[in-house]
Amino acid sequence: MSILETLNSKQREAASITDSHVRIIAGAGSGKTRVLMARIVYLVKECGVFPNRIMAITFTNKATNEMKERLMAQLGKEALAVRISTIHSLCVRILREDADAIGYPRSFTILDSDDQKQILRPIYKAMDLDIKELNMNKVLGMISGYKSEDFSPVQALEMAFTKEQENIAHIYEKYEEKRKEMKAMDFDDLLREAHHLLQKEESVRTKWQNRLDYIHVDEFQDVDPVQYSIIRMLTGPHAFLCVVGDPDQTIYTWRGASVDIILRFDKDFQPCKSVILDQNYRSTQPILDASNALIQYNEDRIKKDLFTQIPGQDKIVLHTCVDDNEEPLYVAKKIQEEHRNGIDYKDMAILYRSNFSSRSFERVLRTVSIPYRIYGGIRFYERQEIKDALAYLKLCTKPEESDPKQLSLDLAVLRVINQPRRGIGQKSIESLREEATMRGINLYEVLKDPQQISGAIIKKCASFVSLIEDLRRQRENLSLEDFLEYVLEQSGYKKMLQEENEEERLENLKELKSDIAQSLREDPEMTLESYLQEVSLFTSRANEESANCVSLMTVHSAKGLEFDTVFVVNFNDGVFPSTRSMDEGGRKALEEERRLCYVAMTRAKRHLYITWNTGYSYMLDKYKVQSRFIMEIPEKCTFQEGKEKEVKREEHQVASIGIPSKKSKVPFKVKDRVTHAVFGEGIVLKLENNIATIAFKHPYGIKKLNALHPSIKKA
Ligand code: ATP
Ligand code: MG
Repeated sequence: MSILETLNSKQREAASITDSHVRIIAGAGSGKTRVLMARIVYLVKECGVFPNRIMAITFTNKATNEMKERLMAQLGKEALAVRISTIHSLCVRILREDADAIGYPRSFTILDSDDQKQILRPIYKAMDLDIKELNMNKVLGMISGYKSEDFSPVQALEMAFTKEQENIAHIYEKYEEKRKEMKAMDFDDLLREAHHLLQKEESVRTKWQNRLDYIHVDEFQDVDPVQYSIIRMLTGPHAFLCVVGDPDQTIYTWRGASVDIILRFDKDFQPCKSVILDQNYRSTQPILDASNALIQYNEDRIKKDLFTQIPGQDKIVLHTCVDDNEEPLYVAKKIQEEHRNGIDYKDMAILYRSNFSSRSFERVLRTVSIPYRIYGGIRFYERQEIKDALAYLKLCTKPEESDPKQLSLDLAVLRVINQPRRGIGQKSIESLREEATMRGINLYEVLKDPQQISGAIIKKCASFVSLIEDLRRQRENLSLEDFLEYVLEQSGYKKMLQEENEEERLENLKELKSDIAQSLREDPEMTLESYLQEVSLFTSRANEESANCVSLMTVHSAKGLEFDTVFVVNFNDGVFPSTRSMDEGGRKALEEERRLCYVAMTRAKRHLYITWNTGYSYMLDKYKVQSRFIMEIPEKCTFQEGKEKEVKREEHQVASIGIPSKKSKVPFKVKDRVTHAVFGEGIVLKLENNIATIAFKHPYGIKKLNALHPSIKKA
């Protein structure tokens, strides 16, 4: 049977055009990727094109692997020769062959963001700049911006208005010098240098052009100008390009992607045939209607209609939960129900806008033994900042009987002794460790009384010890979630992240605070020790991933994928759409969030659940409300569940931030003077739902605290 017979007539037309360029514009689930794969099979099997003369560019590594697997099934071993990759790995391949033509060794190094910071440090020092004043992530972001616009350091300097911009232009210049001296490339360079190579060296360009007859690009709506230019240079005079995309799914304009590229494609590549696909093969009518209705709120778009013949009338379930305790429980319950109805775990996905959301779902899935896997991200409790925070907490625990020497603290010490930097170098740490082994005591004990290292380091160790001792003293005086806050502040860890603009990490730490609050709610007797023990279960390898897992991922990483059952979770204003897009970005930013929402909803084949909760958010510092996008989904497509529990709200609010909801009375009122066991004297500014906002003296400032905690007394 011809592969074309598995396609409808429009798809067949698109797949079998071999004598011109092809552009397929179509909505989600209309078979764009399927056509692209069928076209490759058709070219190899029925037209006799050599597989290695065919290239396909996908958006993610996951998509690359999926395409390879599917082609294997159709073409067998021949599939291995088809050149399938992401644009970044394609650039690496081009450079590995010929980078010497532009002055790099073929074995050039690829720099990740940590490597980039290592390069910046000595430059800061030489320029006498303070990391606290000029944030490294900001500088790297600016450099990346200049590079993607193709501005040289000299141009950056000419454009500089402020002293800071001038400094950044100088850093950019020195960074480039150093990078070139190291013969290394960062991620932006991979694209730029490959572009440069192809442009400069005709022989390289023609070599690649001569290799390729048919080039395919999936998710073409998210291509940026540099990528487009690379693709153009790879397409020789005899070759044909086939691009597929959906302008409604453009979700990377913030990285320079431009939908104009797909819209003017037929002007750049002639002859070109355009094909529009209008049948959706993925989703049921309610899911399709709802997604189409939502995306119509975007002003910037080309109208298109999709229809489906997939049977199934199950409406989209919209579920309001009272807090972020109930939301994952609800989702886990539904997953179990669907599983009992015969849906494999691997056919279900939980999608969220930002990585921090994975935390509460991981926890519940783990507890009820539903296998899961996180794509394109790291499990919550294994993220660096979470492990660091937990290590600080670990250092404040009481000795365990089974470990009288507290050797188990060593790992925690090693983790955070230089986090933030305290100038205790690797060499000193090594000799401290040796000393610990020799004296048969733990590392922390050595830090208290080091006998084999020099004076300057002794001082640094002493100040680390005095920090930990202070934390240990204050532990009993604070509720656990306030204690975490105290640890992050006193250790300088939070400040470090703020200075480095690590917003996602800060978000994760706030989520850790929610985690502690939630655990306290479940077990008011919980101690720091029992919390850490419980959490260590989450990080242990016992929960090995099996193949049949529920997928957890951000909406960005779900692009192009599909699942029988999809849960779009944490669908709250300030999360999805994000606060930033609501506050600063204006209409364009909100439209991009809406496209992202369209991508999320159209991943579902049969069952779509959208959930949110109205609990307290440490991140937003307020009670959450449902996403504004809910109003844009027609009621006829949805089924509302889980009404907000208004009556119990106040009691619940108290409980939701980790305070046992017994009817205690706050012993002070607004404007009262109070004393706090740790923060000293203060004045109560606000009192709401048993949360007190209190202004303390320097250095503590304004804090929100549990008003019922015994650490606060009326003065
Ligand atoms: P997205 O915009 O999300 O990337 P897409 O347009 O690439 O979507 P595909 O993933 O190719 O869509 O197809 C969606 C689903 O519909 C897939 O499961 C695919 O196998 C199926 N499909 C597409 N066309 C047909 C067809 N003619 N017959 C049967 N199934 C089809
Ligand atoms: Mg696709």
